[in-house]
Amino acid sequence: MKASDVTVVGAGPVGLLLACELALQGVRTTVLERLTTQADTIKAHMISGRTYEMLAMRGLGPAIDAASDEEAARLAWPVRGSTGHFAGLFRLDGLPLVMLTQQGLERILEARALDLGVRIRRGVEVTDLDLGSEFVVGCDGGRSTVRKLAGFDFPGSGPTLTGYQAIADVDGDLPRGWHRTPSGVFASGPLRGRIMLIDFAGPPADREVTRESLEAALRRVSGHDVRITNVHTATVWTDNTRQATTYRRGGVLLAGDAAHVHSPFGGQGLNLGLQDALNLGWKLATGDSDLIDTYTSERHPVAERVLRNTMAQVALTRPDPQSRELHALFADLLDLPDVRTKVSAMVQGTDIRYETGCDHPLAGTFVPGLDLADGKGTSVVLDGLEAVIRPDGYLSRIG
Ligand SMILES: Cc1cc2nc3c(=O)[nH]c(=O)nc-3n(C[C@H](O)[C@H](O)[C@H](O)COP(=O)(O)OP(=O)(O)OC[C@H]3O[C@@H](n4cnc5c(N)ncnc54)[C@H](O)[C@@H]3O)c2cc1C
Repeated sequence: MKASDVTVVGAGPVGLLLACELALQGVRTTVLERLTTQADTIKAHMISGRTYEMLAMRGLGPAIDAASDEEAARLAWPVRGSTGHFAGLFRLDGLPLVMLTQQGLERILEARALDLGVRIRRGVEVTDLDLGSEFVVGCDGGRSTVRKLAGFDFPGSGPTLTGYQAIADVDGDLPRGWHRTPSGVFASGPLRGRIMLIDFAGPPADREVTRESLEAALRRVSGHDVRITNVHTATVWTDNTRQATTYRRGGVLLAGDAAHVHSPFGGQGLNLGLQDALNLGWKLATGDSDLIDTYTSERHPVAERVLRNTMAQVALTRPDPQSRELHALFADLLDLPDVRTKVSAMVQGTDIRYETGCDHPLAGTFVPGLDLADGKGTSVVLDGLEAVIRPDGYLSRIG
């Protein structure tokens, strides 16, 4: 029996994409968002090549390309070319990243959701779960109220460092790129005015960033005698690393940061959450409880691996002499093609393979280049064999 109606809590990128997916399957979908307008805090500013392929499969490629080109012209940054990094080692290969701010992506997804008939109610903060829907999905971020109200366990490890990301006007010269220093890391660019700092002195005492606190951290971590004259947007982040033990409790589900949090090393969180939404939408729409449970069994191990690799990146980036040696050794290892290919595929999520019971090497993998804009699966001929493709583009059966 099809799911009749779903309430999605949170109009971040994950909630908006999930709402699009549900509406595409004909499910009456409402999104509740506490903010009255879109947040302008700087967070992600790129999506992985695999996420781009998945969104392009739904017909969003031209809108993403246009927004990415417009931002590149306005913000003076490269559109494509980078393949990302591991612990600051910019030597991955594989699919290029697509530069697009999280806000730019959210605008595209919100417009698509409204086109598909999703009701988006802003200025509504969810404080209990009695929402009258068959299913409620918490896409309400790392401090998820839905997760707490529904009693999900969220084990993991607490923060050990303080990260900053900001767009600011700096008086003085800062070298561009990613730099390791005696107390951490500072990076500037590729976005005009973007500063990223990692201070390993401990977790944040305060989540508020002021011009003064940002300037002090920048001078301390970078060692450069510069002044910050204006802060346009700033956020503090940590390496808090936690994951819900299951993504479903009855009619309540979690997706995106509500289900897993970790440091932004390697730029993986947004991609992970968007791919949660693409995995969950069509399954939830069927209302088939066993199929819906495969959302946890398929996506939990994927996020678990991201949590582990981000913790490894934190350890490699620490400024103590032993970690520096480990980083240098890891840099040498990354020059080995097999190691580089493995690490690149892990960070970019291109090696994800779901269990299908079929041992053909393509079974359970994503098939790029298909047009599944209608949200339905399809069948194609691969290797001379008939392959059945799920609505999220993964191959479920071959031969
Ligand atoms: C500094 C930084 C840099 C990052 N860089 C990258 C990167 O380069 N690449 C990458 O892939 N990821 C990156 N990430 C991670 C990425 O930003 C997150 O993974 C992403 O925002 C998760 O999206 P989400 O929709 O799950 O949650 P969010 O974006 O947090 O959205 C949750 C929404 O729910 C709303 N909400 C919360 N509680 C309620 C409530 N009770 N009722 C109603 N609404 C509610 C919030 O207002 C919000 O709009 C970065 C994160 C940070 C902090």
